[in-house]
Amino acid sequence: MKIVGRIGSPSYSIGKLYIYEHNSFRPSHRLVEDTEAELLRFEKARNEAIESLRIAYERTNERAGAENAEIFKAQIMILEDEEYNKRIRNNILADGKNAEWAVSESSRHFYELFTSIDDDNVRAKAMDIKDVTNKLIRLLTGTDNALDLKEPSILAAAYISPSELVQIKREMLEGIVMLEGSVYSHVVILAKTVGIPVVLGVYMPESLNGHEAIIDGVNGQVFTDPDEELKARYRQLIEEEDRQKSLLKKFIGVDTVTSYGRKVALLANIAGLNDVKNAVEYDSEGIGLTRTEFMFLDRETLPTEEEHFRAYKEIVEACDGRSVVIRTLDLGADKGAALLHLKEEENPALGKRAIRICLTNRDIFIPQLKGILRAAVYGDVSILYPMIISGDEMLQVNDMVREAKSELEAEGVPFGSVKQGIMIETPAAALISDELAGMADFFSIGTNDLTQFTLALDRQNRDLAQFYNPMHEAVMRMIRMTVENAHKAGIPVTVCGELAANPAATKRLIDLGVDALSVSPKDLLKMRKVICEL
Ligand code: PEP
Ligand code: MG
Repeated sequence: MKIVGRIGSPSYSIGKLYIYEHNSFRPSHRLVEDTEAELLRFEKARNEAIESLRIAYERTNERAGAENAEIFKAQIMILEDEEYNKRIRNNILADGKNAEWAVSESSRHFYELFTSIDDDNVRAKAMDIKDVTNKLIRLLTGTDNALDLKEPSILAAAYISPSELVQIKREMLEGIVMLEGSVYSHVVILAKTVGIPVVLGVYMPESLNGHEAIIDGVNGQVFTDPDEELKARYRQLIEEEDRQKSLLKKFIGVDTVTSYGRKVALLANIAGLNDVKNAVEYDSEGIGLTRTEFMFLDRETLPTEEEHFRAYKEIVEACDGRSVVIRTLDLGADKGAALLHLKEEENPALGKRAIRICLTNRDIFIPQLKGILRAAVYGDVSILYPMIISGDEMLQVNDMVREAKSELEAEGVPFGSVKQGIMIETPAAALISDELAGMADFFSIGTNDLTQFTLALDRQNRDLAQFYNPMHEAVMRMIRMTVENAHKAGIPVTVCGELAANPAATKRLIDLGVDALSVSPKDLLKMRKVICEL
């Protein structure tokens, strides 16, 4: 059967469907007769949850210290809490609710109670309750390790969060079919970075689990139970795709320069060390954007300074002399709410995220800054700050950088010098780019967010795809203004949003004076060809 959706990440694959249901958020609610047996089911899940949290506590304590491991202790305490358990047991024994229902009802009660109290610590507890509930329900529904794929599969789900995606081993993921999201969703950007096909706007029922499918991310369609003829046709397309890729190899080692002599730096966007290999293979001149948050989304505790340092040092060394731009944690919105135990926000894209989290949480920002500064001993490193909206924020950033440096000095730990860049991804930053240009060594324009905020269009919303236009004149004027102000101050401008890899925009961006484009490693040679043929 052919199902038409939308293009996500343009590539093909043939494989077996793995339907991932967010059971934890939609547990079945039913009445049970044998309430004693149901109670035993709950007690078993509760004991398993406590045991697994205990292991998580010990591992984290060993790896990242007691402070980071504390969260697991707090969650164990909830599972051992008398009031919490009494309500669940009562729901089962007196009301005859099944365990999933009893757990979610009781959790909702305490969650609402805690979120109604205006105190950050109490609110953090509410997030713990949510985590614990999800854990219990995953155990009750047998989906606790649902993303631990045992064989290479095409993953289908209503929505997969970036934190969920990073838990999956790359070699097990052959494609993604997702109902929600857009090409600008981080999960799709991440899939594109590693060349995994994605089709959006398609919902796969659970009954298709294990069925064979073809995923055609180039045309935005999925075929379930394809016949041999169709599979043969797609095998040919996959071969052709590979052939085109090898043809592009002739652009390795070629200067990125237009026929009329405009030179453009071509850089790579990476989500971690694994992407450096492709960036180097496809001849990137450097790393234009390291989305550091992706490196830590698969865990429940914040990285320590040492972990930051080791992660960036490995990237810098693997880059073998090429420049590396490391963006500080762009957490919040759709990324890392679990990691930070953030409270739920009405408008997360406009919420406490990115630099707003870093500037208000010394414990998050300083270890990262110190890690980056230390990695700078090993190569050409720049720091990039996301979601900046004012010069005052940059002054605060500079204070924190000074603090990080003096701590390192006091500890006698060596660190290198770094250039500092500002992400221009809010209209505010573009409009005051004259002021910001004097406070940075370079700008990097994040067109994904800049479009979202300039046009007031949620980049994740699947129903807005027809309206979301990064080439809208308003966005183009923001870019022009940013480039003019940057060049007046003598600093260069990179574009690192998805627009940088869109051939339809290349001429326009170059005419606007953009100095560098930073794209997924897989798009590097395609973009070099486009530029050279301009
Ligand atoms: C952007 O907003 O364009 C950008 C590059 O950052 P991210 O996609 O990670 O939000
Ligand atoms: Mg952004």
